[in-house]
Amino acid sequence: MIRMRIAVVGGGIVGLATAFRLQQRLPDARVTILEKEPQVALHQSSHNSGVLHCGLYYRPGSYRARLAVRGIRQMVEFCQVHGIKHDVCGKVVVAVSQDEVPRLHALLERGCQNGLTGLRLLSANELREIEPHAGGVQALHVPQEGIADYPAVCETLARLVRKQGGEIVNSARVTSLQRDKQTGGWRAIHTAGETPCDFLVTCAGLYSDRVAELAGQKRAVRIVPFRGEYYLIRPERQFLVRNLIYPVADPRFPFLGVHFTRRILGGIEAGPNAVLALAREGYTKGDVNMADLADALAFPGLWRFLLKYGKTCWDEIYRSFSRELFCRSLQRLVPEIQPDDLIPGGAGVRAQAMSPEGSLVDDFHFVQGDRQLHVVNAPSPAATSSLAIGEEIAGMVTSIETEASIQ
Ligand SMILES: Cc1cc2nc3c(=O)[nH]c(=O)nc-3n(C[C@H](O)[C@H](O)[C@H](O)COP(=O)(O)OP(=O)(O)OC[C@H]3O[C@@H](n4cnc5c(N)ncnc54)[C@H](O)[C@@H]3O)c2cc1C
Repeated sequence: MIRMRIAVVGGGIVGLATAFRLQQRLPDARVTILEKEPQVALHQSSHNSGVLHCGLYYRPGSYRARLAVRGIRQMVEFCQVHGIKHDVCGKVVVAVSQDEVPRLHALLERGCQNGLTGLRLLSANELREIEPHAGGVQALHVPQEGIADYPAVCETLARLVRKQGGEIVNSARVTSLQRDKQTGGWRAIHTAGETPCDFLVTCAGLYSDRVAELAGQKRAVRIVPFRGEYYLIRPERQFLVRNLIYPVADPRFPFLGVHFTRRILGGIEAGPNAVLALAREGYTKGDVNMADLADALAFPGLWRFLLKYGKTCWDEIYRSFSRELFCRSLQRLVPEIQPDDLIPGGAGVRAQAMSPEGSLVDDFHFVQGDRQLHVVNAPSPAATSSLAIGEEIAGMVTSIETEASIQ
């Protein structure tokens, strides 16, 4: 019997979950993950807030809404089955002034439309029973949300993929994707050699647009990197936050605004902000990659975005350099927090797709073609949703294959 060979480019949580789901759906397939780093999950999947999002914010019917609702259930179950640390501790979204209250109510409505249960509006006093140090005039309690150890999820997925006979090739940066005229499949050329396959799936995070282009896809949208920087709260002041305290997000942006997060392995973090980064893997302010920068500046979408939101971007940069300003944003949620309570923490870089018109692509975005499928936009909550995304992709791969065999 000839076994179908599937190559998955990218060993972040989406690539790993996709490989795992492909093996479940197509048990005879030979799945190979090609990852450019010496280890899996060194980028977004291990540089995030570690939150389990349940689908509160997303447009009903969108991939993000559907796959977050399904994905959080699957992720919690996966953590339970494999003994991975997680805690469904619930979160509060806080309206800090009366003008934010209508947006808080709109969130409640959206959450209900997305099928969430247990959502509850809290008065200021009820909020303080859950988070004694939070300020605010009203809040929304979201009991289904929580925190998880995503790096451990990735390690487990990698182990399971190998156990099912899959291969993970590390230090394999894919540089070229060529059609194999004889088989109708692909040859993935990479820094560790060459991998032939019948079907190609790419989940390349910060490089998703460029890797899809290697397979002949037009770069209709472009990845623009937004760095998210964190502060840690000093241990002696961590009593100020019990679990997760979020602001009411600005609906113009897909980012949720700086918030407080309890980490599953201990400690409390504040952040992340969203600063335009000068390199796709620009984890620090000093990181500049001239090729990435030139590529971004040549993209009309970025200029249109800057024309519209230049001031917001500038304010974000300014706040990134000032602990006092960062703290001022946090004081809206927890008035007692002080600049001295904040210790600089890590950072992650979001792979956010932008359209040529300058808008941020709001939903997960997949591009399908002949024996190929590309995950071009997988921003938050793609860690939470990864197992559901993988399931969705496995379904798409099967239907593309079925169509091809019928023709
Ligand atoms: C600051 C921040 C906070 C976030 N908070 C949350 C949260 O609390 N909850 C949540 O659900 N989500 C959160 N997210 C989003 C979540 O982390 C991402 O959506 C998710 O990790 C995306 O996974 P990925 O596999 O697509 O990308 P990545 O983890 O970036 O993986 C892509 C992989 O592709 C590899 N690659 C790239 N190019 C090539 C190539 N040419 N050849 C081979 N390999 C290649 C990379 O090395 C990388 O390992 C956050 C993200 C950030 C940045």
